[in-house]
Amino acid sequence: GGREAPVLVCADIERRFGGLRALKGVSLSVEKGEIFGLVGPNGSGKTTMVNVMTGFYPPSSGTVTLFGQDVSGIAPHRIASLGVARTFQNLALFKGMSVLDNIMLGRHTAMRPSALGTFFYWWWSQREELAHRRVVEETIEFMQLEDIRNEPVEVIPIGLQKRVELARALVAEPRFLILDEPMAGMNQEEKEYIARFILDAREERNTTILIIEHHMDVVTAICDRVVVLSYGEIIAEGEPRAAIADPAVVKAYIGE
Ligand code: ADP
Repeated sequence: GGREAPVLVCADIERRFGGLRALKGVSLSVEKGEIFGLVGPNGSGKTTMVNVMTGFYPPSSGTVTLFGQDVSGIAPHRIASLGVARTFQNLALFKGMSVLDNIMLGRHTAMRPSALGTFFYWWWSQREELAHRRVVEETIEFMQLEDIRNEPVEVIPIGLQKRVELARALVAEPRFLILDEPMAGMNQEEKEYIARFILDAREERNTTILIIEHHMDVVTAICDRVVVLSYGEIIAEGEPRAAIADPAVVKAYIGE
């Protein structure tokens, strides 16, 4: 049968910040159902690349295509509405709000703007509300967050906060999930839990996943393919073990 269009195609992405060229013509594509790793030393441009893919930064030049649609320069909420969810390197949870309320917020991007009349909207929103609650409850159970659902997010340990952020991305039921260092600050047990979770998300929901990850053991264990960045350029790509062993990559990591 015919090959499906890639979920993501980035073509010759350049991004400048003033005089700094943070991305110098990066091209990559992610296939449906893939777990794709974006790796590289600190400051190599990984987060900038994700910000370009998700509309947070428009590219200075180059194009981003998601699900076959050119999305270069369009706003983050419009990219989210295509079925893209992300987590952030620095946690972006709402302090003072409970675990449950933070997760509920992730569901809002899944709500479709309504062209319906006010009364019909009311009727429709009641039904939608039930659907939202069901997804949120299932996700809380799946992520084993029941015991802390009513805690304010700032009082729980960092590893659990990362898990809450992942749950918030997941309730949007994304087709494409982008994770920026989801295991940062986690202990070994928590890391293994998240790795298993990522593999399950791919198997059970057919989610395509792009992950920025520093732990090379994790990268080789779960990624199908990687791109390695250094100073805004691709220095190696392909099968994780081979790419990471590439002399250019070993050299780039010296002094890290
Ligand atoms: P990584 O995620 O690989 O650690 P980043 O994408 O965060 O790398 O950063 C790549 C380069 O771009 C760095 O030199 C960083 O200082 C710079 N940079 C990132 N975001 C901004 C910004 N908003 N303004 C200016 N410089 C930035």
